[in-house]
Amino acid sequence: MTTTVLVLNCGSSSIKYQLVDVANGKSLAKGVLERIGEPSARLRRDDAGTGDQDGPGSTDGTVQDDVAAADHEAALDVILRALESGEHPLSEVELAAVGHRVVHGGDRFAEPVLIDDDVEHSIDVLSSLAPLHNPPNLAGVRVARRALPHVPHVAVFDTAFHQTLPPSAYTYALESRTAAEHGVRRYGFHGTSVSYVSRAAARLMERSVEDLNLIVLHLGNGASATAVRGGRSVDTSMGLTPLEGLVMGTRTGDIDAGVLSHLRREAGLGIDELDDLLNRQSGLLGLAGANDMREVHRRARAGDEDARLAREVYCHRVRHYVGAYLAVLGQAHAVVFTAGVGENDAWVRSHSLSGLRRLGIEVDHVRNSFAGSRSHIISPDGAEVAVLVVPTDEEFEIARQALDVAAA
Ligand code: ADP
Repeated sequence: MTTTVLVLNCGSSSIKYQLVDVANGKSLAKGVLERIGEPSARLRRDDAGTGDQDGPGSTDGTVQDDVAAADHEAALDVILRALESGEHPLSEVELAAVGHRVVHGGDRFAEPVLIDDDVEHSIDVLSSLAPLHNPPNLAGVRVARRALPHVPHVAVFDTAFHQTLPPSAYTYALESRTAAEHGVRRYGFHGTSVSYVSRAAARLMERSVEDLNLIVLHLGNGASATAVRGGRSVDTSMGLTPLEGLVMGTRTGDIDAGVLSHLRREAGLGIDELDDLLNRQSGLLGLAGANDMREVHRRARAGDEDARLAREVYCHRVRHYVGAYLAVLGQAHAVVFTAGVGENDAWVRSHSLSGLRRLGIEVDHVRNSFAGSRSHIISPDGAEVAVLVVPTDEEFEIARQALDVAAA
């Protein structure tokens, strides 16, 4: 049976794609089509079958400018034609499945699922919980099902991995009838990444994931912390939406909800303005004027006090969650860093974990400064809690889960 899966990640203005052979972990082709709906739509593609696992966002192949992608349907058409002209044309590669990233599965989806009209409808209904994400995800599902009608389509939800949270962790102490009526609870996100990283961490430690308690720190543009016991999520920092928890590129993370009513009253801000302020104008961008951690470091090194404060706030919040999840888990075997900042930023890793030696957590500075792209251990030998750097690969995980569903 074929093990090749096409992974699609449809955002409002972009589609990332990757053709993955799950059997050997190879990426056969990947790319991203950006600026859908604009005349300047652009396709960045790498269809040389390099087999690396950097994810489509970091593709460094060819660029086609001004492609005709007025909407998602036209964009997918461009992508399918690009795949056809590459080294692994779809007409020759038999697809086992198309795996779709879907952000919000609410409490209906605890597992990836074969998509039918009923599932499409549910994703649509769940748009009220993720108005920016589910509608473009669904648009991608619809056009891909039409374009590739004979292949199983599987939805893989960012929230699904966290459906194992106990009620004590997912319940907000909000008046319960209002909460129930509007689906207000903690759902958690980045689940696909945390699931992949947990298994990869267990492999690196030569242990079974069932025997491990892990604190997974996904520090990308969005950032979250998750407590994983025996391969199951038991607490996570993102909530009803991906706004809660750690400081992010442009999001506040945790903030007193009273700030919203205060700003509503005192600054006269409306709901959309508040939403924009908290989600798109805050975080590192709001504190330091740059959402990319590399730029924040550059400014801090040049003496910029705002940038210095921003990275202190960022690391303080990470440390806060590490302490909290040590308490939630009782005992942790490893703290695992992943995603853009987590995988690359030795400064953030060592500052976030500084002063935790008495809790068994320590970073070896020589190991921490190793800048390779492979998983590695950065704690000293014999440390009570291992500290790991594990590159995430959401596309591979979506492909793996989609193949499991399609083969079942
Ligand atoms: P996303 O969350 O959008 O999937 P990534 O996980 O790729 O993104 O993370 C992107 C972020 O990672 C960038 O905004 C930047 O802050 C950070 N980043 C990428 N490379 C480095 C690096 N070498 N050092 C520090 N931070 C980095």
